[in-house]
Amino acid sequence: MSRRFDGKRILIATHNAGKLEEMAQLFEPFGVTVVGAAEMNLAEPEETETTFIGNARIKAQAAVKATGLPALADDSGIEVEALDNQPGVYTADWAETPDGRDFIMAMTKTHNLLESKGAPHPRRARFRATFVLAWPDGHDEVFEGKVNGSLVWPMRGAVGHGYDPMFQPDGHEMTFAEMDPAQKNCISHRADAFSKLIAGCFG
Ligand code: IMP
Repeated sequence: MSRRFDGKRILIATHNAGKLEEMAQLFEPFGVTVVGAAEMNLAEPEETETTFIGNARIKAQAAVKATGLPALADDSGIEVEALDNQPGVYTADWAETPDGRDFIMAMTKTHNLLESKGAPHPRRARFRATFVLAWPDGHDEVFEGKVNGSLVWPMRGAVGHGYDPMFQPDGHEMTFAEMDPAQKNCISHRADAFSKLIAGCFG
């Protein structure tokens, strides 16, 4: 049994305005108000762990420590089977350049690695998302979501972010970047993790 959340305010340990807005809408039916990391002037801790859970826990615990509020953090990324599940927790790192993140470059690198290995098709991959909800007394609950699919090339679609243009979820003809965001948000790794969080702590 997961611990129930019975507070009225939750700190969302993200500086991403889009993620914060998404969370505000998702928590509204439960009478819970979200507070963002930027609003509380929180620093972004270094993600030094090698797992999604480890990094989400670093972010959640740092936010609890700084604010005294219960905090929710997430970590996510894409695992490519033929690349031994890389880039995984290093998904954003693969896109780093001196001028910011470049996901076209990261996707091209991923495709080139698959080509150089002669990886067979379909090139299986999954997005993973992990949520950690941490309380001020040190307790936390972990929820993991995933969506399975295949990598396509060339990239397709212009909506979305990150690796969306090369990821085609199982059972769909479109990549995440060709889908209506509302459709993606119903089947995504984050939706999967979020529904488990709600069932576990808010249901
Ligand atoms: P973080 O969890 O915000 O650290 O995100 C890790 C990285 O994983 C992001 O920068 C994206 O590149 C990638 N990622 C996570 N979720 C998605 C998604 O839904 N679509 C595309 N890329 C994603």
